[in-house]
Amino acid sequence: MLEDVLPLLLEKTRFLITTHVRPDGDAVGSQLALGLFLQKLGKQVAMINTDPLPGNLDWMPGVEAIEVFNGALAQHEYIGGADVIVVVDANALDRLGRKMAKPVKNSGALKILIDHHTEPETWFDRTFARDTASSTGELIHELITAHDPDLIDEAIATALYAAILTDTGSFRYSSVTPAVHRIVADLLERGSMAPPAVHAALYETRNPEWVRLLALVLDTLTLRYDGRLSYLVVTRRVLEETGATTEDTEGFVGYGLAIEGVEVALIFTETLRGTKVSFRSKGETYVHDWARAFGGGGHRNASGAYFTRPLNEVIDDVLASAPRYLGLSDSDPDNDGTLSPEDAAYLSTLLDMKSQR
Ligand code: 5GP
Ligand code: MN
Repeated sequence: MLEDVLPLLLEKTRFLITTHVRPDGDAVGSQLALGLFLQKLGKQVAMINTDPLPGNLDWMPGVEAIEVFNGALAQHEYIGGADVIVVVDANALDRLGRKMAKPVKNSGALKILIDHHTEPETWFDRTFARDTASSTGELIHELITAHDPDLIDEAIATALYAAILTDTGSFRYSSVTPAVHRIVADLLERGSMAPPAVHAALYETRNPEWVRLLALVLDTLTLRYDGRLSYLVVTRRVLEETGATTEDTEGFVGYGLAIEGVEVALIFTETLRGTKVSFRSKGETYVHDWARAFGGGGHRNASGAYFTRPLNEVIDDVLASAPRYLGLSDSDPDNDGTLSPEDAAYLSTLLDMKSQR
């Protein structure tokens, strides 16, 4: 709860703020806003992550202060000697990534969680977590406002606005309430930033490779289970051919979900070491338990899981498990989750796909 966390933030001196791997707008915006707030209170603050910022977030005011963990003695010493470690927008140790997980776990600092994912791990000393919040940015706004709303300046407002904007899919997900719009109104008043400029910085700085990748990935669209499930596939080959990166696939899954009648959209991404699966759903069909069944997690309508297994096996397994999560009976022969011969043939051509250009 907020009351468990705020007094500690006011009392302690040396802070580390960290967030999840492949940080997104909510992760970075929340980290930055909290960091800037604590600095305004005269605190010592370091912000260190496992992964670097994606290119569409490097414009945010104050991002120069965010470091990537490089194992340097100075970073180890800071993390080990911090009074408080605040983890934002991630509630599980493995979400912090290979580099940060260990130093965070081993530090003698008090561990605070500020987050909106379901089922937080239990190693935190204090938590301010609400899984119905639109974003972690919303919680940071609540926290700063409870202390002194006048501390929200343009940089903090911009960071929080970007956090809420990205995690609500530009204010369209079911987590968006009148309260969220009131927070956003407050941020626009205090920060005076221009929404078109923030939107352009976040979403309109793509390169041609991104568009080519999108074209090839959209071509993999497959519908299953009477059109209630759609999936897209991103192979290493297609990434290599287009010169794009896995980071460029952010948001692609939304195209699968845009189809009428689709309740769940998946995107399978082949990586160097395995396969990443993103789960998205609409309405009352939830995907967090599904992702969790494979060691992942997230939100009811947006989750993810990572497999250290080959793409084709993962596609097979995840699709085979679909009936339970679509509310279908496992034994219904029409809902057999295994690949049909046509789908299997299609998948193998996909995996061998030569350049289509
Ligand atoms: P995305 O599909 O965009 O990577 O992630 C969607 C949501 O699922 C995010 O909120 C993220 O926290 C969560 N998520 C993604 N991948 C994983 C994972 O491997 N493990 C867990 N626990 N959550 C994940
Ligand atoms: Mn978030």
